[in-house]
Amino acid sequence: MAHAVAVFGGGVAGLSAAHELAERGFAVDVYESRAVPGGKARSIPVAHSGEGGRLPLPGEHGFRFFPGFYKHVTDTMRRTPYGAGGNTFDNLQAATRILLARAEQAEITWVARCPRTLEDLRVFLGELFTPIGVPLEEVTYFVNCLLRVATSCAERRLGEYEDIAWWDFIAAPRMSKAYQLYLGQGLTRSLVAMRAEESSTRTVGCTQLQLLYGLMGPDRVFDRLLSGPTSDVWIAPWVEYLEKLGVRFHLGCKLAAIGTDGVRVTGATVEEAAGSSVVTADYYVAALPVEVMTALVTDDLKRAAPSLANLEKLKTRWMNGIQFYLSEDEPIVNGHAIYLDSPWALTSISQHQFWTDVDMARYGDGRVRGILSVDISDWEAPGVVFGKPARECSAEEIKQEVWTQLKQHLNDSGRGPINDASLVSYFLDPDIAFPNPGTATNAEPLLINTAGSLQYRPEAQVKLENLFVASDYVRTYTDIACMEAANEAARRAVNCLLAAAGSNAAPAQLWPLEEPVFLKPLQEIDRIRYTLGLAHQLAAG
Ligand SMILES: Cc1cc2nc3c(=O)[nH]c(=O)nc-3n(C[C@H](O)[C@H](O)[C@H](O)COP(=O)(O)OP(=O)(O)OC[C@H]3O[C@@H](n4cnc5c(N)ncnc54)[C@H](O)[C@@H]3O)c2cc1C
Repeated sequence: MAHAVAVFGGGVAGLSAAHELAERGFAVDVYESRAVPGGKARSIPVAHSGEGGRLPLPGEHGFRFFPGFYKHVTDTMRRTPYGAGGNTFDNLQAATRILLARAEQAEITWVARCPRTLEDLRVFLGELFTPIGVPLEEVTYFVNCLLRVATSCAERRLGEYEDIAWWDFIAAPRMSKAYQLYLGQGLTRSLVAMRAEESSTRTVGCTQLQLLYGLMGPDRVFDRLLSGPTSDVWIAPWVEYLEKLGVRFHLGCKLAAIGTDGVRVTGATVEEAAGSSVVTADYYVAALPVEVMTALVTDDLKRAAPSLANLEKLKTRWMNGIQFYLSEDEPIVNGHAIYLDSPWALTSISQHQFWTDVDMARYGDGRVRGILSVDISDWEAPGVVFGKPARECSAEEIKQEVWTQLKQHLNDSGRGPINDASLVSYFLDPDIAFPNPGTATNAEPLLINTAGSLQYRPEAQVKLENLFVASDYVRTYTDIACMEAANEAARRAVNCLLAAAGSNAAPAQLWPLEEPVFLKPLQEIDRIRYTLGLAHQLAAG
């Protein structure tokens, strides 16, 4: 008989674990507390917005970015059927540009791929010579820092760089404001779940290098986006495929307690509308967000699985999306826009240009032609209109703030793409709730990497014989809280489960981060220096 596995959490990690297990003949049940699977990656149709038989406006928790270095989640997408003979990976579109938008200054456009057209070359050369106000010696210093990480051995990255914040490593405190803003904060906050001031040099440095390697050849991709609402072109077809494989989904079913005898999990208490019950299985996979898992880890569990004992030391921050529905499409740039001077750390995607087969007239009241999807990554800094942080604003104030900050960047010549007349409506992530009285709450914060936090993050295998953890906080090669890490963590959990079950099925594939061959000799030299207790060559003297 097939081994039974209970997977808790139906986000990217839970779905990935179910995928790997079901394809290997396990009997899988997924317990998800929300009414829909997908977790933070799910789309959120705007309630009551569809008129005259049209679909509700497509909303998102936040837009989805699939950098070129992702290998795990994209492999799973390739193995998920879509349409007639296709797969969900086919629904990724490469972006070609990144816009660095600045308030009251000219914007800078970067080519987000190795130049392959005359126009790419023109933009690439233009960006090289665009003054961003950072003194040349500071640019050289920054490049040197990146090269130090690139040519460091793995042991130095772990033993030395893990504990240093990127901000200090790049000497931001003693550099110019422009250096701090563009090379320090700007380059870091465009990426998910990292902040230059608090994230580790190991994580920020390695991730920035992975992104850069995406520009190093004509066959490479830097940035990819989905060709439609996330749930339509990815999550729903994925769930459908898993159901065909026999996976059973229990939606609206929340894990409330994990029982243990100190060696094994003995059962899991789940709560749903009909009441609570105890689920038993041969194996259990917890694919839950870190703050949920932290609350479920009792003292008994900490004793039985000590690697889960320090989850409360991991930090979360807020990052949530707001969408603006426009009567005229404004592509802005063929990729991400980063609003370098925005206090709320805004980034955006103008979605319709990537939604090649989506007829916008089918949504809402039929007037919408474009969607500007914006992520707010800083909820603590005062805004420019009300002088308050986002978490102290009402939904309407948040909308006005974000709209104004976008205008300050894109309309600074007096005219521009952010046009009041074309704004039909907006949608703020409903995770942000506004209790009265009191400041807003966020139902789904995001793990943020902090210097020195690796020691608190568990491996997928914990000491309990039949429990495995899979989510974006688990130790992975990927290392940042993102969909790639969630997928990789799930693969690791499944591989440990296969070993525990004595299965002879092939393990799920894992890919380490890329280290270009030409750097290997330099990393070997650094390994010798590190073993001898010497500083990195570029830091010495
Ligand atoms: C605004 C925003 C934008 C982002 N953009 C990107 C991006 O562009 N690219 C990228 O790679 N990553 C991005 N991320 C990060 C990425 O979305 C997450 O790291 C990833 O989706 C985490 O997947 P997960 O399965 O580990 O966790 P989750 O997605 O949090 O899934 C956990 C699931 O468990 C469920 N659950 C919670 N409690 C219980 C319980 N007690 N019982 C049962 N079920 C429970 C939840 O409802 C959820 O479905 C973004 C995150 C945010 C917040």
